[in-house]
Amino acid sequence: MKSKRLLMTVALAAACWSGMSAQQTQELPDRIKMGQERVKVRHDIRLPQIDGYELLKCDFHIHTVFSDGIVWPSLRVNEAWEEGLDAIALSDHIEGQPAREGMKKGDLDLAFKNAEGEALRRGIILIKGGEISRSMPPGHLNALFLSDVDSLQKDDVVEVLREARRQGAYIFWNHPGWNVEEVKWHDMHEQLWKEGLLNGIEVFNEFEWYPKALEWAKEKDLTLMANTDVHDVVERLYDRKQTAHRPLTLVLAKERTQAAIKEALFDHRTLIWFFDTLIGKEDYLKKFFEGAVRVQPSHYTTETLSYVTLTNTCDVPFRLEAASEAKGYPSCIQLPAGASVVVAVPKDGAHPVSYKVTNLLTAYKQSIEVSLF
Ligand code: ZN
Repeated sequence: MKSKRLLMTVALAAACWSGMSAQQTQELPDRIKMGQERVKVRHDIRLPQIDGYELLKCDFHIHTVFSDGIVWPSLRVNEAWEEGLDAIALSDHIEGQPAREGMKKGDLDLAFKNAEGEALRRGIILIKGGEISRSMPPGHLNALFLSDVDSLQKDDVVEVLREARRQGAYIFWNHPGWNVEEVKWHDMHEQLWKEGLLNGIEVFNEFEWYPKALEWAKEKDLTLMANTDVHDVVERLYDRKQTAHRPLTLVLAKERTQAAIKEALFDHRTLIWFFDTLIGKEDYLKKFFEGAVRVQPSHYTTETLSYVTLTNTCDVPFRLEAASEAKGYPSCIQLPAGASVVVAVPKDGAHPVSYKVTNLLTAYKQSIEVSLF
């Protein structure tokens, strides 16, 4: 094996030879091995606390090679740790297994068992889940905090959900707008919801967002969810030039434990964060903004102007637009993640001034308002 690799290296070097200048070839090291392994670090995500709750960064919809994903379960833990997450749920498809040739049908707990040790070593909260994958209705649903995924292999989907519920599972509807002509709340969803078998809903999945699902969540008091539904390597899915993080469900938890996450999900305490958009209840969003942004006293004044520094201490950027005409005040302010900006405001202006935070939404195209200065 080794001699074959060496041969390939020699062949590659020969193929490149003709295109290289003499100077370039002199810079090559005289050994085959070169460079250093990338240092593996955790990139912490900075978020404020809300009402004393810690905001846990979670992805509750993830696939592995044990259904139709292409990634080994323990690598999911490493990805989550490097990206600064607190918790992930492995939610391989229950139906249609095995999806990969060579995989044996049977033990649906295998993915979890494979990743458990790495999760303990990294301090990632690993949640055992499964994706119940049926045609619409009801479509696909994730059950989390399962004790025995295998027992969900039944024909009748309502019976499957009842079994999940018996295990104490939290159940949510995945990507309600995926692969359908119309995004629709079916009679079956009404039945499941009334029986307590539908606790949350994905308003965002992978790259799709569903304003309709946000409406239903408000009407029915369902917990808001945003997840990746990742099958590929996370780093290969999201362009880091467009977004610094994967889509996440932020859980307002009493502490950093699995039990606290479960309690918060049943109590509908989440915000969802995808690209630059943060969605949730108005009260939580306002407290999020207040916890993240510091307005420092003026450091310089002229006869007419005061120069004020705004500091964003978190990793969510804020886009502010004046809610009404306020003479002399900036009409819009961009406040990037983890950065400060200086703004000039009238020295004796009428304040406070109301701004819309256009990327913090309570409903479709409905942003929160905050007071500044
Ligand atoms: Zn899925």
